[in-house]
Amino acid sequence: MKIVETAAELSQLRGKMPGPVGFVPTMGYLHEGHLVLVRQARAENASVAVSIFVNPTQFGPKEDFRQYPRDPRRDLALLEGEGVDLVFMPPVEEIYPPGFNAWVEVGGLGERLEGASRPGHFRGVATVVARLFELVRPDRAYFGQKDAQQLLVIRKMVADLDMSLEVVAVPTVREPDGLAMSSRNTYLNPEERKQAAVLYQALTLAQKLYGEGERNAAAIRRRMTALILKQPLADIDYISIADAETLDELDEVKPPALVSMAVRIGKTRLIDNVVVG
Ligand code: AMP
Repeated sequence: MKIVETAAELSQLRGKMPGPVGFVPTMGYLHEGHLVLVRQARAENASVAVSIFVNPTQFGPKEDFRQYPRDPRRDLALLEGEGVDLVFMPPVEEIYPPGFNAWVEVGGLGERLEGASRPGHFRGVATVVARLFELVRPDRAYFGQKDAQQLLVIRKMVADLDMSLEVVAVPTVREPDGLAMSSRNTYLNPEERKQAAVLYQALTLAQKLYGEGERNAAAIRRRMTALILKQPLADIDYISIADAETLDELDEVKPPALVSMAVRIGKTRLIDNVVVG
């Protein structure tokens, strides 16, 4: 496994990698959710590249960029175990050299939900992913359904800019109680961790109500809200029931619909989603 920190080293090694090349962008502090992406990339490609980069431009000024958990040694050991060929772990200046000022903005899709709660978030995401795609030049790139809106934004960027690669979506990996795996789960204390299971319980409730024939989005959201607020440490940022492709909010649930949410448990903001229908 080659580990490189600069674009120049990456470019040199990339030229020698047998194709197709599968690529998994991450912010590190890897868990099973990341490793499932890596395994799928490994199974479908001759070479696998992974990036570890905590991207400052996708964090708001009051967000957790500085505290974001990091453990590069452990990450590298895990990636070695998965048979990864190349890890790109650039310092910030390699991605954003002094004077860097070209940004990728995906309008519409990127302005809703997470984009509305975290202004500038998807501009940072799209820009760093475009940078990484240009440097790594993958044939396929793997993203988790856990970040469903991110996946849509990346797909839209790839389509609109005619980027020549395939975007592959990978289902969400969950803990036994349903909590979606996330590097940020490490912020939760034991009591918060217990209460965090309510996100998936609320999503499961939405699926159940839909299965029983409920099509009124407001009614489903009300039931989800009531369930979540039974947990004293939970504070809802949003619950959305939207068209799974356009993210237009639905009054009447029509499949496929994306049920997604952001909920704070204590100080930790968690997101999760399911597709119904
Ligand atoms: P991150 O390191 O949080 O930026 O995530 C890197 C990639 O892993 C993104 O495509 C995420 O959607 C994906 N990912 C994170 N958590 C999970 C999970 N629990 N299940 C599936 N994919 C995930």
